[in-house]
Amino acid sequence: MTEPLKPVYLEDKLKEVRGDGHLSYRSSSLPTWCPGCGYFSVAEGVAMAFNRLKVPSKDAVIVSGIGCASRFPFFMETYGFHTLHGRTLPVATGVKVANDKLTMVAVGGDGDDFAIGGGHIPHAARRNVDITYLVFDNGIYGLTKGQTSPTSVEGFVTPSTPYESHDRPLNPLMMLLSYGASWVGQAYAGQPHHLTDMIAGAIAHRGFSYLHILSPCVTFDKTEMTYANLNVRVRDLPADHDPTDRMAALEQATRTGTPALGLFYLEDRPTLADGMADIAARAMAGIPAKGKKARG
Ligand code: SF4
Ligand code: MG
Repeated sequence: MTEPLKPVYLEDKLKEVRGDGHLSYRSSSLPTWCPGCGYFSVAEGVAMAFNRLKVPSKDAVIVSGIGCASRFPFFMETYGFHTLHGRTLPVATGVKVANDKLTMVAVGGDGDDFAIGGGHIPHAARRNVDITYLVFDNGIYGLTKGQTSPTSVEGFVTPSTPYESHDRPLNPLMMLLSYGASWVGQAYAGQPHHLTDMIAGAIAHRGFSYLHILSPCVTFDKTEMTYANLNVRVRDLPADHDPTDRMAALEQATRTGTPALGLFYLEDRPTLADGMADIAARAMAGIPAKGKKARG
């Protein structure tokens, strides 16, 4: 016989939420996102991940560009930098080069990150800068009221494409796997517990972690990346998926019709700070370069 469901009392739930400490990572500014926006799950997930990993607020930095997603630093009780359109990763890299001890989370949307900011992603990934990079993908420009973005579906009808979009969407997971990101995963705002686990995993990884977050824009997309559609399309990665196998990760990333959630790829290799420290130590000791010389 199944146990009857126990009632959940609001007072008890509030006590539990207030008691675990993650609210100390949320600022007193309440998010201005539309009710139901997937970004609420991400804000809660980041606060819970910081709390789980015991990251002191004073050692955490959140950097963003421009867009709905980029309002994120205002809502968190950490250091933050709301920068220029598409310039999240250069700023985040600069902060990490100045102080590698900081926990750096860079955030943005699909438009900000893969259109104007797209040229910066491969370089931060191949350098393996120790940044957690969270891209909230809703396949649309939300802040400017619903135009196509680099991840919008082909044939999308929006104010900027009234006779359908001709463009093929980018595949960010394949891009990041090819660029050399050392941690690549995917999560969904509609599965907040898994999302929190993935954010915590991405932050705990030392190196460039890329988490692609499927996150519906409930105001401007009523037909494509909706909760109703994603709830039936998402799946878990196969139980035997080997995250050290980049080809297997790429193969999974091609299956965009049924997006897989979980850790696609993981590699342990020196970060940019490790490489710079090694070069500086050898230069100070007068040890000649060990690499290949461009001229003889
Ligand atoms: Fe979220 Fe869309 Fe509203 Fe922006 S416009 S806050 S992406 S629901
Ligand atoms: Mg967007």
